[in-house]
Parts: sequence; C-alpha cells; structure tokens
Amino acid sequence: MEVKEFKSFFKTVGGNEGNKCHYPTRLDTYGCGCQHNCDYCYAKSLLDFRKMWHPENPAVADINKIRRKIAKLPKDTPPIRLGGMTDCFQPIEKTHRVTYETIKCLNENKIPYLIVTKSAMVADDEYINILDKNLAHIQITVTNTNDEQYRKLNYEKASLPSERIKAIEKLQKLGFDVQLRLSPFIPEFIDYNILNNVQCDKILVEFLRVNSWIKKWFDIDYSDYTLKQSNYNHLPLEKKKEYLSKITGFKEITVCEDYTEHYEYWKNNFNVNPDDCCNLRQDISI
Ligand code: SF4
Repeated sequence: MEVKEFKSFFKTVGGNEGNKCHYPTRLDTYGCGCQHNCDYCYAKSLLDFRKMWHPENPAVADINKIRRKIAKLPKDTPPIRLGGMTDCFQPIEKTHRVTYETIKCLNENKIPYLIVTKSAMVADDEYINILDKNLAHIQITVTNTNDEQYRKLNYEKASLPSERIKAIEKLQKLGFDVQLRLSPFIPEFIDYNILNNVQCDKILVEFLRVNSWIKKWFDIDYSDYTLKQSNYNHLPLEKKKEYLSKITGFKEITVCEDYTEHYEYWKNNFNVNPDDCCNLRQDISI
C-alpha cells in the first residue's frame, strides 16, 4: 500500500478548546486516519464525511521535517502533546517508528512532551528505555474496564482495557509521571471496583459530551445530558459530582472540561492543580 506523507504534523489549537487547554501545541506523527478507528473519534467526525479518514492506511509524518521543526523550538517550550489528533502509538508505529524517533529528538533538544494514547505499546521496554523521566508525561486513555464488554461493543480497535491498566501500573512503578485518562467517561462502561484498584496515583476525568455523531455509536441513556453549549450536550454539574464521588482509588484527581461554567468550577473548587487541569508533574518539566 502506498504510504502518504502527513504534512500538517505540528499545530497549535485555538478557539474554545485552545483557550482552556494548557498544552494546545500538538505534534502528530501519523494523520488522516488512525488504526484504532474509534467510532466516536473527534478527528474522524471532522474528516470522515470529506473522505479524508483512512484508518487502514494513515499518512506518516516525515521524521526529518519533524527533527527540523523541533530543533527550532525555543528552549522554554511547554510540553508538546503527542497524539492530539491521532494516536501516536497506533500499530503502524511498529513499522514506521516515527514516534520513537520523535521522542529521541525531543529528548536531545530537552523539550518536554505529553503522550496521550490508547495503546499499551508506550510501556513496551524499547519505549521505556528512551522515555526521559525529566521530560515525559504519559496519559493512557481508558474508556472501559471490562475486556469482554469492550470486545463485544467493538467501538475501538486499541489495546484491551486490562492491557492499558497493566501499562499504566508498569509506568507508575517505574516512577514516570503517568495518569489514567478516563476519557470519555461513560459511567455505563466503568466497574468502579476495577477502576479504584488501579495502582496509579493520578487520574484525569473527561466527561462524555454528546452530539448527533456521538449518539450514533453508544446505546446508552442520554436523558441526563441536558445542558447545551457549543453544539454539545453535557451532564449537569451535580450529576458529574455524583459520578466523581465514586472514583476513590487515586491520590490526585483532575477534570478536563469543555463546558465553561463547569471548567471554572473544577478549576476553583476541585482540581488538585487549579493552574493546570492536566495536572502534569511540575518539577520535571523545563
Ligand atoms: S485512538 Fe484517538 S485518534 Fe485514534 S481513532 Fe481513537 S479517538 Fe481517534
């Protein structure tokens, strides 16, 4: 299959998301498709109808161009997000290794990075060996805690929930700044006994926001999603607090939020670090 080049690999996100997100600069090693092909994927929702989403054959960024871009970044650059639009540890990484080389280049240039992935590959020994504890922040996304239910629902083609949890625990044990990223948080898919027993200090929660695209994919009860903002429906604050009260097994909890009034509430009353809803370990970056 012909390999296409992914040219727009470096972007700073603006708008509502960019204003709230602390780490809006993204470096995507693969694009125009992601082999995990999650039904509800935001990037897919934007590209699919324009026939620009190719999960069977994602485009691959040119590592030499990435190296040149990184070399020009100022030395005090805040963490760059790897895997903001598509997963930088999707299976194609095993063949092309652009993420592997990008991490090495970020290390050489002392640029901190935030990896967001649904793959356990990030905890494979070859990556552990190059991840720099002084620069790397890792968030492994969990959307379901039950392998059987996950297989049956088949809404993503990424690592099994148990594999992701094992990867989180391995990174935690080794002293990396790792978080379980519960995103999107779909309460129907979560067994709190499993979640609260994950051996990890930190959890980040991002509630499901609902539009007509999302409703196509999940057979769940949407009647509580009554608040509307920017074309999405959200749960009321009290309902969110009720779900959060069930998450008890982590030392630090933080909420990544899109709904403006709730964003202010979490920031001022709930998040462990009011200045950083991603709650990255501060002493290791820059
Ligand atoms: S892993 Fe992320 S980028 Fe890839 S399909 Fe799923 S939601 Fe989209």
